[in-house]
Amino acid sequence: MTLHQNFIAGSWTDGAEAADNINPSDTGDVVGRYARASREQAEQAIAAARAAFPAWSRSGIQQRHDILKKVADEIVARKDELGRLLAREEGKTLPEATGEVLRAAQIFDFFSGETLRLAGEKLPSTRPGIDVELTREPVGVVGIITPWNFPIAIPAWKIAPALAYGNCVVFKPADLVPGSAWALSDIIIRAGVPEGVFNLVMGRGSVVGEALLNDPRVDAITFTGSVGTGKKVAAACVEHMRKFQLEMGGKNPLVVLDDADLNVAVDCAVNGAFFSTGQRCTASSRLIVTEGIHDKFVAAVGERLKGLVVDDALKSGTHIGPVVDQSQLDQDNSYIDIGKKEGAKLAFGGEMLSREKPGFYLQPALFTETTAEMRINREEIFGPVASVMRVKDYDAALAAANDTAFGLSAGICTTSLKHASHFKRNAEAGMVMVNLPTAGVDYHVPFGGRKGSSYGPREQGRYAAEFFTIVKTAYTLP
Ligand code: NAD
Repeated sequence: MTLHQNFIAGSWTDGAEAADNINPSDTGDVVGRYARASREQAEQAIAAARAAFPAWSRSGIQQRHDILKKVADEIVARKDELGRLLAREEGKTLPEATGEVLRAAQIFDFFSGETLRLAGEKLPSTRPGIDVELTREPVGVVGIITPWNFPIAIPAWKIAPALAYGNCVVFKPADLVPGSAWALSDIIIRAGVPEGVFNLVMGRGSVVGEALLNDPRVDAITFTGSVGTGKKVAAACVEHMRKFQLEMGGKNPLVVLDDADLNVAVDCAVNGAFFSTGQRCTASSRLIVTEGIHDKFVAAVGERLKGLVVDDALKSGTHIGPVVDQSQLDQDNSYIDIGKKEGAKLAFGGEMLSREKPGFYLQPALFTETTAEMRINREEIFGPVASVMRVKDYDAALAAANDTAFGLSAGICTTSLKHASHFKRNAEAGMVMVNLPTAGVDYHVPFGGRKGSSYGPREQGRYAAEFFTIVKTAYTLP
């Protein structure tokens, strides 16, 4: 089987070791074999990025625009093939995977335009006769560390702005799902980035990730992943006094009020909690429902869940693909046990399913009669497991929604303008959704959370410039 190599200092390079990328819908299917870099190889990539930075940071905006546009165009042209690859390696359904691939293209397209729009300011000084200018400069060498659940979109929303604003990149994708990251990197490299500007170092977090964290030649780290790893990234970055940005877990609430449109609420809950197998940082894992609609809502969600097909991600008609791997499946099952032991009622699902091919198939699980103190309502499970909490009224719902260490996305289903407006102002989350699922966002506006979910400037849209550039203030006496 062909080895998919790393790309370091302008050359495709074998790793110190290699690993198979396994299809979670069919564990007998090896998607490909992928190199794993050593610490020394990661350091070579960092050195190459450092060496390339002076020229790239001064490269023309037209060159950067054209490269990013070319990447966007090739992704669009190959969306079906790349969508199949993504669904095969990660397990989200083919329509979801193709949608994610298109999202990556839209992001590259957006940032190709942003290269032409980067503006500064010229202001009068408070001291007569002096000019003041504000400009944005690239940060330098950016280490990019990404998770497995959005294997092309998250790399895209970090790599595109990094390159657009003139930074050099050392990209370390998730070890579990490197195929889409490799395909994206191949496209970026063939689009014409100069040697050293973009490096791909696939491999283990404990080897390649740590090499990035511990190297003083890395000027900034942008990380998406779990809270535990995020804390390590933060500690290492503080040690080196470098810029960092963290996007981490969620325990996102969806509030359903008595006056909600029941169909809208059920759509939001089922989509938000279970689509993409619940493996989204923005998944609605806590459904907070007021007393008057509670029983109708639970019955309608249960009915909807019965109609969902859990099967091979590549099969047409599949609504929910498999869990990504055995260890995530073990985690999901252990939380289902914890929920039962804590006294929650497993109202639907939660059992393992067997399908034509061996895979990690789990029937979406819905807990009811849960309370805020239960671990299933406090810890991120990151699978197709959601719980319903019954509350008295809107005030209790808002309090429950905010009673969490996380703060990524929060949703409310209501026909009351008063409650929707109050919730938008008072939900402690980076993103608030009214009559929409907590997951599912646009690419031209900021993405990110509060509290334990995020740290540092927002990602995506124009706000990406906050992280990927540094402001310089220049004073001139002409
Ligand atoms: P993870 O923390 O295990 O891994 C994330 C990345 O960090 C991987 O590339 C991994 O190899 C690397 N890594 C692991 N140990 C490292 C170390 N010691 N030093 C440096 N790098 C290291 O997370 P995961 O399991 O891949 O992803 C799931 C998590 O990601 C969930 O918590 C989910 O909520 C979160 N997530 C957040 C967002 C967001 O935008 N907030 C989006 C998607 C996923």
